Amino acid sequence: MATQKLVVQCKVCGTEFELPEDVMDGEIASCPTCGARYIVRLKGGSVTLEEFKGDVEDYGE
Ligand SMILES: [Zn+2]
Repeated sequence: MATQKLVVQCKVCGTEFELPEDVMDGEIASCPTCGARYIVRLKGGSVTLEEFKGDVEDYGE
């Protein structure tokens, strides 16, 4: 059985990290290394990251 791994790459620091198997389209994911936040987009079985541009009060570290 082939388990699909949802591996994405941070656009800021290049770290590859895995998303939960049950991740939902539109969920926020953050890079474990630099903390950059992304919106997860699931399209046709592939996953992409969209830059998170919402207001985040605790952003700025
Ligand atoms: Zn990163």
